[in-house]
Amino acid sequence: MKTRIFTLILSCFLFQLGLAQEKPLRILMIGAHPDDCDIKSGGTAALFSQLGHEVKFLSITNGDAGHMEMGGGMLAVRRNAETQEVARRLGITYEVLDNHDGELMPTLEIRKDVIRKIREWEADVVISHRTNDYHPDHRYTGVLVQDAAFMVGVPNIAADTPPLRKNPVFLYYQDHFEKPNPFSPDIAIDITSVIDQKIYALDAHVSQFYEWLPWISNDPDEIPEGKEERIQWLKSKRALAPNPSVRAALEQWYGSEAADKAQFAEAFEICEYGSQPSESEIKRLFPMLGKSNN
Ligand SMILES: [Zn+2]
Repeated sequence: MKTRIFTLILSCFLFQLGLAQEKPLRILMIGAHPDDCDIKSGGTAALFSQLGHEVKFLSITNGDAGHMEMGGGMLAVRRNAETQEVARRLGITYEVLDNHDGELMPTLEIRKDVIRKIREWEADVVISHRTNDYHPDHRYTGVLVQDAAFMVGVPNIAADTPPLRKNPVFLYYQDHFEKPNPFSPDIAIDITSVIDQKIYALDAHVSQFYEWLPWISNDPDEIPEGKEERIQWLKSKRALAPNPSVRAALEQWYGSEAADKAQFAEAFEICEYGSQPSESEIKRLFPMLGKSNN
């Protein structure tokens, strides 16, 4: 009893001093395939994880179509194993839902699954694809997440999982599609300090970055054999400099001097269907903003 009273007094004292640890943020990044979250937000996830926050990647499909020599259950098992290695390399959680790759539809059943996953994670922030995208699985994942954005708080929908009492902030990943409207970055995160960790995480998707994607894109490059050489090759493909609109968003959040030094960034656009954050709320939800440590 004495110990409990002492703990209570101590925590009140620390709270007064502002030393008590704030509750970690809970971030849910949703992708269509078991590499999309990684490509779009692997650096941001690494920064959240470094700061002690909880990040989960959720893939809506199991990736069982994305290969030229294997497919079905065997490929799904291989890709799931790759995601678990990514989770280890980034310090996050990774879950893959068992929906077929290349055949995703925005059904009510899968919408309810997405609602449950957002609720179970008690997400403060949810990030996913825009619905303008070349890949139907990306488009429909975007639709599914948009369709969940209000329903996560409605108790009678997916009633087996308690509703959230606060709607998360929903955001979109950056993409390069222009029609009917281009991506517009509201937030840009300087990931220069974690770019090597991000590339190392991508390197765990052996079936994708060293097999399937070079094949499907007719990349004439020879894939290097050595481990280090492969990572350097992957970095040359996947570590891209900020475009002018992302550069402008970096300047807004970091100032022009730090923005000049930011070699790599990930950018996000706020979705209108979730909570609409103030500037101070954005800084609370993305505590790495404004802090470059390159
Ligand atoms: Zn994808």
